[in-house]
Amino acid sequence: MKDANEAISQITLLKQKLHSAKVALDELNEDRNAKLQTLLQFISNLSLACKGQNLELDNRLAKLRHQLTTYEKLDDALPDIVEVERLLKGQYHHVMAQLEDSRAGLGRVVRQIQRVESAPDKLKKEVAYFKQDLSKPLHTVWEYIPKVEKLMAFYEEILSAQFNSGEPLAVLPKHRQLAHELAQIISEIEFRKDQRDQVLVIKEMLAGEIDVEGLMDAYQTILSLLVDNIAREKSASQEFLYALNDALSAVREVVSDSYNHTQRSHQLKHQLNREINSRVDNVGEAIVDIEDITTLKFQITEQLSSLRSALSRKEALEQREQALLRKSMETMRKELNELAEEASNYKERLFEQQKLNLLDTLTQLPNRAALEERMEQEFRSFQRHKHPLWVAVADIDHFKSINDNFGHSTGDKTLQVIAMALKNSLRDTEFVARYGGEEFVLLIPEVSDTDIVQLLNRVREKVKNIPFKFKNQRITVTVSIGAARVMDNELIHETFERADAALYKAKHESRDRVIIDC
Ligand code: GH3
Ligand code: MG
Ligand code: MG
Repeated sequence: MKDANEAISQITLLKQKLHSAKVALDELNEDRNAKLQTLLQFISNLSLACKGQNLELDNRLAKLRHQLTTYEKLDDALPDIVEVERLLKGQYHHVMAQLEDSRAGLGRVVRQIQRVESAPDKLKKEVAYFKQDLSKPLHTVWEYIPKVEKLMAFYEEILSAQFNSGEPLAVLPKHRQLAHELAQIISEIEFRKDQRDQVLVIKEMLAGEIDVEGLMDAYQTILSLLVDNIAREKSASQEFLYALNDALSAVREVVSDSYNHTQRSHQLKHQLNREINSRVDNVGEAIVDIEDITTLKFQITEQLSSLRSALSRKEALEQREQALLRKSMETMRKELNELAEEASNYKERLFEQQKLNLLDTLTQLPNRAALEERMEQEFRSFQRHKHPLWVAVADIDHFKSINDNFGHSTGDKTLQVIAMALKNSLRDTEFVARYGGEEFVLLIPEVSDTDIVQLLNRVREKVKNIPFKFKNQRITVTVSIGAARVMDNELIHETFERADAALYKAKHESRDRVIIDC
């Protein structure tokens, strides 16, 4: 009876447990379904946002939206999801290629504008900056629109200047524009000292009323100067290799000479040792064999003098050996010193050349090429150690108005001062480069999520506190900064794009601020 009661109470307990497990499972299912529904809704909305780019994609997405309305149809949707994914990838590459085409198209329009000779100087400068800015790749269609607007503004300005002056539009002949472009290229190349006068003459020619023939001559001269530089560079490397070869041959000779000497003197020494030993033996024998003391005395004296002569020959041999060794060492040391000097000159020249190629001429900060190099290096180290790594993009606010109000050379000086301030506000392990125009990129390793906000705000404040004074007017210049932390499974260029998007946001949220993408 007691057992039966116990069994009943156990069953009741189990029933209760089963019931609460069922309730918990139902709650879990409900929660999962709610989340799944939200996700499906989100995918559906996201697919609506993709609408209008490609008809096939639109149709597939419409079907998918229909399938995703209920949980039951999800299995049917799976093959379609694979197909949509393929289409989306294709669409992404298509958009990127189109953006590149559009960028090239903008470049062609800029070159057309640059041919308008009668355009105001200020506008010409702005067009040149714009052209530089176009060397940056476009990441979204949205970036394209302000560029087109800017081009339209350039055209508008040219036309209104034209209407006001009433003069016919002066358009630069094609070859004159090519002359300007050649002058621009030349100004970015480092020529040798003895070539500079010749280059200066060409520059002046290019800036003047040059004709087609003159332009061809200029191209040819520049080309031959460059070819000459390449040849010299090549022969400098050759010279170094010859020097290295000479030094190695000298060392080899010295080693083989000293080996031969050692062999020979070893033989001689052996011979002398044998002679000395036999003399000593002779003395020993004489002592045993000879009974007559006078003969013995005579014999010993004779043997001793031969012994002395053999010993002094041995000493002379050893001294000669030492002298030869010293001489060999001296020759070797001289050759190696010359080689070391040659190598250090060569290294210095290479280093100088590299430095020139990696520095921005205006601000003396590392340039785009240097940034690319450093980005790769930092990214490799991130992949190895997984320490935090931040990419930040800083852009000066309303910089154009500085050029407009105080002139382009003031603008240039402002860029130099801000570049220095940025550099000085960072530690040695951190890096800043001029990305182009009035934009800078910072690479900051080993800083936590909380510290980065402080660090970048300190940088922002540092720029804001520079006491600029233009035309006796105290001016505050500010920067906006967007930053992102490199995530696992992300390429650093993708991080850069997120940082750039954060900067875009900072610009729209009234500027002079730091926005972190997280
Ligand atoms: P925002 O706050 O939106 O960044 O406005 P902004 O005027 O700074 O930006 P916008 O992109 O409209 O103009 C950038 C200007 O930077 C265009 C040009 O006047 C100037 N600029 C670009 N490169 C140089 C340069 O090397 N020297 C000088 N003096 N100005 C430059
Ligand atoms: Mg700006
Ligand atoms: Mg900018």
